[in-house]
Amino acid sequence: MAVETPGPAGLAAYAASAAQSRGRVYEEPADAARAPYQRDCDRIIHAAAYRCLEYKTQVMVNHADGFFRTRLTHSMEVAKLARALARALRLNEDLAEAVALAHDLGHTPFGHVGQDVLDECMRGHGGFEHNVQSLRVIDRLEHKYAAFPGLNLCFETREGVLKRCPRELVRFFGPVAERFRRGWQPSLEAQLVDLADRIAYTNHDLDDGLGLEMLALEDARGLELFERAYREARALGPELPRHSLLHEINRRMIHGMMQDLTAATRARLAAARPASLQEVREQPAPLAGFSAEMRAALKPVTRFLNERYYRHARLLEMAAQAKKVIRELFQALMERPEELPERLAARRRDKEEKYGVDGRARVIADYIAGLSDRHILEVHGRLCGGAG
Ligand code: MG
Repeated sequence: MAVETPGPAGLAAYAASAAQSRGRVYEEPADAARAPYQRDCDRIIHAAAYRCLEYKTQVMVNHADGFFRTRLTHSMEVAKLARALARALRLNEDLAEAVALAHDLGHTPFGHVGQDVLDECMRGHGGFEHNVQSLRVIDRLEHKYAAFPGLNLCFETREGVLKRCPRELVRFFGPVAERFRRGWQPSLEAQLVDLADRIAYTNHDLDDGLGLEMLALEDARGLELFERAYREARALGPELPRHSLLHEINRRMIHGMMQDLTAATRARLAAARPASLQEVREQPAPLAGFSAEMRAALKPVTRFLNERYYRHARLLEMAAQAKKVIRELFQALMERPEELPERLAARRRDKEEKYGVDGRARVIADYIAGLSDRHILEVHGRLCGGAG
């Protein structure tokens, strides 16, 4: 593996260098021009599941006035933050970007409520979990290369994507889930993606909620982190229009969290002094993380979003609709599996032969999980008679 993409100061000893990668499941010749994790990024961006993120809910159901975030813009924000963190800590930027781009590929339509109701439908058939689904998407469900199923990504990318793994699946997934059996950590790059995810959604959900006036500015000012950024932004000028004020607050909050995370992680690295990726893995706890002060300041922000935004009447109404659509479509396809698209017919027959009704349920869950918010409403309308 000749090509490496180091940051400006070269990779730190604890970074996941491509030279130490555990490689791909199906061996392929190295690319002369691209580093292995860079190639992973390209493969993810060219995946159908990635394109589909454009029409998947982050929080608000995707519809015409596309001013708020979708899963695609969220994934792009996470990738940018993760790259910046990786660069500051002399980690592998390409790996951080690859994990970030793929981290939400397994999400169903309609956000978290979609995954919960699909899990409910799959009870007794092996369940449904979006982190596991993200790995299944990159390992199996994207099927377009002649030589192998899935995208054949590097081990470290796949391991980073499998952020959680139900205990009963650890053995099934083998080496990529080994860390759950051993109580090990993933690479620092993957740890940082998880935190970049939190920085991204915390700030963009606040921004969307305020922008849509589902959250009140005066209420948000009760949050210490928000109020500090608000005062600084207000000091820029009394005539600042509302959208500029919100942006000036948003960028200050993101910047503060990024700086805190970088400094706190750097301090932990200096204390633990891991000399290799393997030493990072064997740490009893993740080394990447916010300071104690930032963790305390973030708690009320998370509570505020949970209470005021994610449980806002408008979102609860959408959630009820989303549950009904997924439940009815799952049921209809279980009863009339011949209504699945033709391209899935052979896979369904194969799975039914091997696993009976559980096999049928899995093919249906994979199909539903892969639909966008728009597409599922259309399919539901066609198969269940009604607009949902
Ligand atoms: Mg995410």
